[in-house]
Amino acid sequence: METDTLMVAERKCKDCGKILGPGREDRQYCDSACRTNYNNRRRKESQNSIEEVNEPAQLSVPDYITRIQEIQLNNRRILEGLCSEEKAGRIRTRDLIGKGFNIKFMTSEAEPTESGKIYRFCFEYGYHLEDNGFALIICRKREVV
Ligand SMILES: [Zn+2]
Repeated sequence: METDTLMVAERKCKDCGKILGPGREDRQYCDSACRTNYNNRRRKESQNSIEEVNEPAQLSVPDYITRIQEIQLNNRRILEGLCSEEKAGRIRTRDLIGKGFNIKFMTSEAEPTESGKIYRFCFEYGYHLEDNGFALIICRKREVV
């Protein structure tokens, strides 16, 4: 069984890379210190990669503005499909978001209506989130010509 002996002899510590001497076949480290060391390093590396995902490289200012305009235009397009100038629309807020609507971005917020409703607008389309989980969608006259 010379080949087996050779394989065993060539197994290396996952931490320090030293060749592992004879011992249990599933041995991966010289000792518990190497195992701890390796696991700590792995944990740190995976945390670093999570941080990288959460903090992507900063967009340039023009790209940042373009990105927000894209979101606002997408919001407008979604609202446009849900109402007309003659008829307001109504949709479950979660369905609105399911269509890709991004509630964080709008172009303006109107004064509260007489009944206290606050409409936020994406261009000429406005939405009001009701407490009952529905959103009212309206279209108003364009304010800029
Ligand atoms: Zn080691």
